Amino acid sequence: MSDAGIEPTYTGKNENLVFIVPKELFSMSLGPAEVLDRETAKLFSKYLRGTFKGFEQARKTKYGNENNKKTEVPTDFWEKFEKKAKELDVDLIGYTPVNENYIFKDLKVYGKNAIVLGMEMKWDKIKEAPGAVCEIEVFRVYKILGDVTMELTEFLKEQGYKSEAHHPFGGKLLYGPHATAANLGIMGRIGLILSPEFGPRQRWSIITTDAEIPETKERDFSDLKDFCEKCGACVRECKGGSVLETPIEKENGVITHIDRSKCIQSILDNNYCSYCLRICMPSRSS
Ligand code: SF4
Ligand code: SF4
Repeated sequence: MSDAGIEPTYTGKNENLVFIVPKELFSMSLGPAEVLDRETAKLFSKYLRGTFKGFEQARKTKYGNENNKKTEVPTDFWEKFEKKAKELDVDLIGYTPVNENYIFKDLKVYGKNAIVLGMEMKWDKIKEAPGAVCEIEVFRVYKILGDVTMELTEFLKEQGYKSEAHHPFGGKLLYGPHATAANLGIMGRIGLILSPEFGPRQRWSIITTDAEIPETKERDFSDLKDFCEKCGACVRECKGGSVLETPIEKENGVITHIDRSKCIQSILDNNYCSYCLRICMPSRSS
């Protein structure tokens, strides 16, 4: 029995996938070079604090599932769920069974299916990367998507389905492989998911749930795949020199596309960097 008083559905076993709390990132600030008016500075502080608080709150959403045993859903359930999610500004929604292999080692996950949610980071802000304008947008979406993910998780729990929220700032399972399995996009050379809608310019979160999910929709990503394979702009132009020319494939299907420590250093030095989101062509909004 777990500390939540309910059995976890899975406990991560993949030795190659160890969750590292992004401690360095919890000390983020806009940095002395940026001069912001009072209102903007207040807004940034609200998004930053909201992100960190949401990250901790999401870990507690496993509680309150003690009596949730339902799995079957009524016919129009997902239609209504998606309508609700879209009203809360979620842009992309996909479904796939949880892949046990992509759960961080020793972390406990509640719910056998994954609802993958994506929220756009707006191009007019991302095109300013690196800088305060882009950094504020990054944290706006972390916070809003985090809050929305928890709200939708509580909705599923109230309906009787065992469910848990995984915050966009960091969850218990890898979002990329679940987003691709849900046919929301492809894995780009930058190591981020490229969607046809926004390229790499969205944040992802997941709700794990025991509710039965709809079938994954078929989609054709061949143009996007061809473009990314030939492009290589992120490999050449990454601010931190962290994108690997050739990704490293570990056992159990975990693939490393970037040198994490170099990227984090650039994030700390350059207002959350995000330069790769700007230079990736599929990111551009017409
Ligand atoms: S910059 Fe080019 S190579 Fe890198 S992820 Fe985007 S499309 Fe792919
Ligand atoms: S955030 Fe910056 S350092 Fe990290 S991969 Fe993107 S461009 Fe490179």
